[in-house]
Amino acid sequence: MLAEETRRFKGMLEGRLAELENGFAGEVRAYWVEMFSYYPRESAIVMQRDLEIGVFMTSLLMAHCAYLVYRHLDATAKSDVALLVLCNIRLVLFLPRPLTWLRSYRGYVAARNQPTPQLVRDRLLDTVDAKPQWENRCLLYFYFYLASVPAVIWTASVHTPFAADLWLHCKANYVWIFVARLISVGLFCVLKNLDLNRGATDAILAKYTTVRKFSDNAAELGEECAICFGEYVNEEPIRTLQCKHSFHRDCIDAWVQKRKNRCPLCSSMVGPDREKAD
Ligand SMILES: [Zn+2]
Ligand SMILES: [Zn+2]
Repeated sequence: MLAEETRRFKGMLEGRLAELENGFAGEVRAYWVEMFSYYPRESAIVMQRDLEIGVFMTSLLMAHCAYLVYRHLDATAKSDVALLVLCNIRLVLFLPRPLTWLRSYRGYVAARNQPTPQLVRDRLLDTVDAKPQWENRCLLYFYFYLASVPAVIWTASVHTPFAADLWLHCKANYVWIFVARLISVGLFCVLKNLDLNRGATDAILAKYTTVRKFSDNAAELGEECAICFGEYVNEEPIRTLQCKHSFHRDCIDAWVQKRKNRCPLCSSMVGPDREKAD
């Protein structure tokens, strides 16, 4: 009877936990989709730099944690033993992380090299989606660790050298979490205001559009360019997009490469269309 109750309670708890995890993952993903759609090129750069700095700082902090464990391995106070257990779990959970870092890094670099903003967004989402769930659980443990260490130290009546060292280590972690967010937001703001090429590349324009010289008897062309409202003059280079809309070559090149790779008249995309498959 009791075993059945326990089993039922365990099932309910696991179900609730999975529900919470999925709900949280869904919200986080919606945030990624929005950011990658509005700022694909900026996001790719920020994600890559974020990972680079993160790998460096996390490795440094983990090395320091390992050093503290090694130095105080012979600690006998009850609170020190609890702290050692917390630190060792953290160190073990860190071991497989370089593998996922490498995979994410490759994803972000590949995203940055995509020829259109839509493909950058898709590649970024693929990379974020490919992150294994255990990585999130490791992160959850890290926050649990950062909360438990001071809790153990403050509830223990004796204050040992290990506790003092570890408290300093935790403070370095708190500062780093804050500084990391600050760097990401700062970099994003700088990139947002830079004169980046946010649209399609030369290669996409060459592959998916055509250029020809304007001649007065080309009846299918409009009389003026819809971007600069200037009239077409004989022998002027005119670019025609996939949607058959035409513009001055210089006008549409600046539009498609600097802004969005979409036709200013009908919003059709310039380049390969993976969007429709979504
Ligand atoms: Zn024009
Ligand atoms: Zn068009």
